Amino acid sequence: MAQIFISAGHGGTENGVLDPGFSTGNTTEAAEMIRIRDLVVPELRSRGLNVLSVPDDLSAAQSIDWINARCRIEDVALEIHGGASNTPAARGASVFYIANNETRKTHGEVLLLAVLRRVPQLPSRARAPTPPLASVASALSAALTAHRC
Ligand SMILES: [Zn+2]
Repeated sequence: MAQIFISAGHGGTENGVLDPGFSTGNTTEAAEMIRIRDLVVPELRSRGLNVLSVPDDLSAAQSIDWINARCRIEDVALEIHGGASNTPAARGASVFYIANNETRKTHGEVLLLAVLRRVPQLPSRARAPTPPLASVASALSAALTAHRC
């Protein structure tokens, strides 16, 4: 059975500094993504899916390494982000997938359409391949990011 890796965006240490992601009011993107992840993981497991939760204290690069050390070709890895910004044009739902992989492109489009159907207020921003693996970490600011799996 394929595994699903879910990473809550931010929360780890980047360049020696704790990365909370976008902050507003008395919460952070990292805290909210952890809360969402903690709701999603048991829901998926209750449907019989094999879901692994990436530890919250890892940096983006460490998260990718953690996933890549455990993934198989049929697995899927997602990192969720709030996609928040003070710039309205930068808000919305985005999905990134592995470049030159039509299967993952289709998966990304299905996921994006499902999110937009459930939350139609979200503007649809992007469907784009991730950069090569060497720079995947920089793509983790995207709303959803596929890893090597
Ligand atoms: Zn983010």
